[in-house]
Amino acid sequence: MIKYHSKTKIVATIGPASASKSILKRMINEGVDVFRINFSHSTQKEFATLTSLIKELNVETGSHVAVLADLQGPKLRIGVIENNKADLKTGDMLSLVTKKCTGTRQQVYMSYQNFPKDVSVGESILIDDGKIKLEVVDTNKKDTVKTKVVFGGTLSSHKGVNLPDTSISLPCLTKEDISNAVFALKHGADWIALSFVRKADDVTELKELIRKYKGHAGVIAKIEKPEALKEIDQIIAFADGLMVARGDMGVEMPFDEVPLIQKHIIEKCIRHAKPVIVATQMMESMITNFSPTRAEATDVANAVLDGADALMLSGETSIGKFPVETIINMQKIIQYTETHGAPYSKINAPNESSPDYLADSVCYNASALAKQINAKAIVTFTHSGYTARQISANRPVTDIFVFTNIERLIRYLSLMWGVKVFYLKSYEKMEESIGESISILRTKKLLRRGDRVIHVGSSPLNEHGKTNILKVSLV
Ligand code: PGA
Repeated sequence: MIKYHSKTKIVATIGPASASKSILKRMINEGVDVFRINFSHSTQKEFATLTSLIKELNVETGSHVAVLADLQGPKLRIGVIENNKADLKTGDMLSLVTKKCTGTRQQVYMSYQNFPKDVSVGESILIDDGKIKLEVVDTNKKDTVKTKVVFGGTLSSHKGVNLPDTSISLPCLTKEDISNAVFALKHGADWIALSFVRKADDVTELKELIRKYKGHAGVIAKIEKPEALKEIDQIIAFADGLMVARGDMGVEMPFDEVPLIQKHIIEKCIRHAKPVIVATQMMESMITNFSPTRAEATDVANAVLDGADALMLSGETSIGKFPVETIINMQKIIQYTETHGAPYSKINAPNESSPDYLADSVCYNASALAKQINAKAIVTFTHSGYTARQISANRPVTDIFVFTNIERLIRYLSLMWGVKVFYLKSYEKMEESIGESISILRTKKLLRRGDRVIHVGSSPLNEHGKTNILKVSLV
């Protein structure tokens, strides 16, 4: 029996729980499409070891799993706490200082030097994913901010800090991020995610860095700050993909707004044919349990129904007890949801003012035609991934098989909804490519005699022009 190829893709974060060849191999076999390596927790040395393991596994298993390098961005943190524990009670006073010190119940170090200048009296400070809440009562605008504890808790070393009310003057791409991005490009990252994006220029800056180092990685803008939502259309236009980063988003913004923000971002990304990942706490309880809660199963199914390109696992696969079982269970939910109620036919009418209007029209009509004639597959040839992305955005029920002679594109496209990519050496003539693609798909038992197939591509093939051909065939 042919294994079910889920349309919705899975991104799994690697960490101590999964960083061995045997576990990664099992995760690939169970359906991981993209591995995320998070520079918030991984060193460059670990990144290099993991990427070469993934390369080996791709060769051994014949898979095309992509690597997503996640940059930490301007994450704010407190310093070391004496004995790694300081109990803060509601109503206590606590000073945050920018001069290095060992933290106590009265005073802790804050890594962000402009902090006293950027904050104002009355603003909130959240520590450790919002578990502790402080309110600014005074700032000397130099090196000390006095706060009152609004919700207490136990403070430990290096916990993250979120400032939901403050406009932060730090750059989005820190020095450490630049060094990690250059390292990731050198080691073949297919995608790079940028944390705490506030504006489209943040994305452009990373794209310029990638261009400077002649890299090919796509840029994923992680949406977790309220400022990003104000510029969401421009960010979608400039980024190669988005992540609904619900972890920090639920701290930076009211958690009750997160579900609708998720739905709006997915809808906009589909409309603009940009891949979108839903991230964080999807199967959180599987960090310690062997099955997800009903609420988590529903969350996964809802993201599938919304039409997300990919769902991401963080702690579940990086530090959890059941990394492989998490993938098995997520695949089960995806498969059931896709076969019984999936997010199909979000056909995107092409935009007449776009310079790609004609190419987009061909992709749009291929998707509409596939539905009308009940085609088995839409097959495309691509040199840039553009055609694959446009067809995928229409979320056709029909299989999407993509052929390319560019090795790295096969991995890059692994993130996109419904897309299954194959290598095909380049041919001079369209007819030869069509014939060869059908023969490959028949050998793999993905097409059978009598199937209707739609081919989409650009002719002449070797000119790498825009999509201009649509052909219907009977296998
Ligand atoms: P993180 O990003 O795992 O790097 O924190 C995802 C999120 O904030 O949801």
